[in-house]
Amino acid sequence: MERAQTLFADFKVNVVTGFRLLGGFIGDFQETENWMNEKVKTWVKAIECLSKAAEQQPHLAHVSLTKSLQNEWSYVQRVVANVEKPFTLLRTALESTFLPALFGSEVNQAEISLMLLSGHNGGLGIRDPVNSSTLSFQSSREGSKILSDSIIDGISLEMDLHETQMKKSIHQARELRDSLEQDIWVKTSNGLPIHRQKTLQRIKDGECSTWLSMMPTHDNNFLLGANEFRDSIALRYGRVPIKMPGFCDGCNQPFDLSHALDCKRGGLVGARHNESCDLNIDLLHLTGLTQTVKEPIIQEPDSDGNGGL
Ligand SMILES: [Zn+2]
Repeated sequence: MERAQTLFADFKVNVVTGFRLLGGFIGDFQETENWMNEKVKTWVKAIECLSKAAEQQPHLAHVSLTKSLQNEWSYVQRVVANVEKPFTLLRTALESTFLPALFGSEVNQAEISLMLLSGHNGGLGIRDPVNSSTLSFQSSREGSKILSDSIIDGISLEMDLHETQMKKSIHQARELRDSLEQDIWVKTSNGLPIHRQKTLQRIKDGECSTWLSMMPTHDNNFLLGANEFRDSIALRYGRVPIKMPGFCDGCNQPFDLSHALDCKRGGLVGARHNESCDLNIDLLHLTGLTQTVKEPIIQEPDSDGNGGL
């Protein structure tokens, strides 16, 4: 370093042992880690801001993290090697700040392991920043092999070969990630009570995760309110939704999920039916069948909910 500084002193060249390049960093291990720590601090701060926003708008905070923020560190993981250690800080921020804010209550370690998986593997679509680090770099290096070989050896680039190599590497990385996530899912879900295992299995087998990756626009009511979103993610993991009333306001019986789905006096069964009915009518209107109307109430039901027509 000193020798380089002496040699280049007359040229006014700033001699460094590490340098930021194309969104990544090239340099010795310590310099890279220092640079990485600074980046991670910025992202931790961003997670804290999103956690604050999640108190009021959990759906929007979840989409902001999964569709935007996590792609920032995902890019860095593809272009900088050996950066698992700084990302433990990021994982801690997700575990201790973001996920509790999203659910509105504490989450345990087993639940966290499941939540930090892809949506189709039973997770929330939030990638584990530590586990994804090495895989991302290896996959990116493998995918750009034809391109980098061509630059290093000075030979012309075969675009077809490059594209094939990229596709192959993306496919292999996806399969490897799926298999790793599958292992985590099996190991973690086996430790949960049987009724929660069944819930998780049904969510996974039934592919009930598309809603998590939808853009929360007002069109088609895709934007969920705080309670709607929290209830949905709680049910996804077999948790009891927060803010559950102790007793049914229709019949004063102790209130739980089964009762909510069964009681004909609390109004929830009717509300569910009406919502499906309204949705069907909306869909029919979208197809051009604008004459479709809701069936009118001919006779109001009595106080027990019977006799309605
Ligand atoms: Zn009831």
